Amino acid sequence: MRVNKSLIPTLKEEPSDAEVTSHKLMIRAGLIRQLSAGIYTFLPFGWRAMLKAINIIRQEMNAIGGQELLMPSLNPTELWHETGRDQDMKDILFSIKDRDFLLAPTHEEIISDVARREIRSFRELPQIWYQIQTKFRYEPRPRFGLLRCREFIMKDSYTLCATQEQLDELYNLHEYAYRRIFTRCGLKYVVVGASSGMMGGSGSQEFMVPSEAGEDRTAFCEKCGYAANTEIAQGILEPFEPAEIMGKKKVHTPNLRTVEEVSEFLKIPRAQMLKSLLYVAEKDDLPVMILIRGDQQLNEEKLVQYLKSPIRPAHPEEVQQWLGAPAGFIGPVNAPDSIKILADKSYPVDVPFATGANEKDYHIIGYTLSETKVDDTGDFRIINEGEKCVECGNPLKVRVTIEIGHIFKLGTKYSESMGALFQDSEGAQKPIIMGSYGIGVGRILSSAIELFADESGIVWPITIAPFEVIITALDITNDKIKEVAEKLYNKLLSEGMDVLLDDRDERAGVKFKDADLWGIPIRITVGKLTAEDKVEVVLRRDTANRMAVDIEMAVAKVKELRLMLYNEIESSAKKIEVKNLSKK
Ligand SMILES: [Zn+2]
Repeated sequence: MRVNKSLIPTLKEEPSDAEVTSHKLMIRAGLIRQLSAGIYTFLPFGWRAMLKAINIIRQEMNAIGGQELLMPSLNPTELWHETGRDQDMKDILFSIKDRDFLLAPTHEEIISDVARREIRSFRELPQIWYQIQTKFRYEPRPRFGLLRCREFIMKDSYTLCATQEQLDELYNLHEYAYRRIFTRCGLKYVVVGASSGMMGGSGSQEFMVPSEAGEDRTAFCEKCGYAANTEIAQGILEPFEPAEIMGKKKVHTPNLRTVEEVSEFLKIPRAQMLKSLLYVAEKDDLPVMILIRGDQQLNEEKLVQYLKSPIRPAHPEEVQQWLGAPAGFIGPVNAPDSIKILADKSYPVDVPFATGANEKDYHIIGYTLSETKVDDTGDFRIINEGEKCVECGNPLKVRVTIEIGHIFKLGTKYSESMGALFQDSEGAQKPIIMGSYGIGVGRILSSAIELFADESGIVWPITIAPFEVIITALDITNDKIKEVAEKLYNKLLSEGMDVLLDDRDERAGVKFKDADLWGIPIRITVGKLTAEDKVEVVLRRDTANRMAVDIEMAVAKVKELRLMLYNEIESSAKKIEVKNLSKK
């Protein structure tokens, strides 16, 4: 491709609405343009990079036996009603007004519909079906470019199995394929335990790229390798030194609502306050009170997992109606039986606590959890950096990460509710055991930019770069420069390389700046050195190291560097192995 007359619009200035590096550089380098909040056009440069990533994904999915298909984005709402997710996911669904359709945010319902029509016998299982397609999710605050969008391209695959062993095997194959995909895309990532969220199912893992631009937080143990999204991560909390509380009594605490205010007033540590929070499990409109150590925070995701329902904080009117007091003065003591009470295990059962008295301007002190009605105890807390690892006791680290892939063992949630059955070897009808696996393709690009960009622009891994080589012809009006550049361009193309020729009649400074911004891995500069029958060859990741090469040797040099860059990535991918495959 030639830069002259191509659609590769670059910007000198940083776009004012972009917060993170990848978003800024994608706009500045002319990869994407926003149509509406969280909705982007891929310009040719961005789309070329997307196609490279898609190509790697397709190769690796086919290598584990995946069969590519394509399901519609426009889905009849009634199919989603069969699993109840037209309600469960209503916050993120785009529904079509006046038509009973929605735009699919994921495809479990549709794949289950295909399966119930086409699969009959255990002999047809297992299957891996995948697609690379556009998804729609309503994000209230789309931001960070391709990291949080309303419309995005995703690879989603689904496994259909007759047995749990088959599911385990295909899940492991996906983990293997995903490691190869992300490694071949040149990314650095970790695989972490994750929440199944509203997908349901028995197990899931996420592939995370450590980056400040991320929106997930991952807890790591550097000693034993424990790693989990903080949505589910567990840690061991240091015990606190309780203050002595004599007897049980109600204390007047006018206008003191927060843990800080009340603990200061009562002269007891914050940790000894029992934070009482009221939520509603939306599935059956159940009021739920969560009790948690006063210096700790509720992890809403853990509560969703436990209740297997979306949740919301109770409205102030509901708190008043159900407990007879405003939030800040509520607690488990004398709470009505209609409220389900869950205690976080962080609070010791025999230490007297202070909490709301269910009466405005009053708290109650001296009760212990062992003498309070608690329906269940569990882990509902957000862990913090420095807590001890549950596996080995080493202090945990917490890092911000970008989620680039997520794999789930779904089980039979969808096949049961939609009647996707198969006949087993004994002739019995059983629900198909499913798995679901996703990769956000745009996030691969964002992550690569976040990981490797420098102050001058993007630095692409060669495997997903829009072009492998750029020829920067410095003074295109000079006949010799033009001739050498054209010759090299055609020769490299005939060698099967992706080459960009900057043949604009522009100043050298502009061309160098753009070449740095675009981040093409190998650059050939055709300029003054042509007078000595030489050109300059540099790698984008090491622009200080300029190599003057005889024009006759330039193609060989580029081939050598290109091979080196691919080998660095491919040799890491070769080391990846499939985990614990059951022997057949
Ligand atoms: Zn550990």
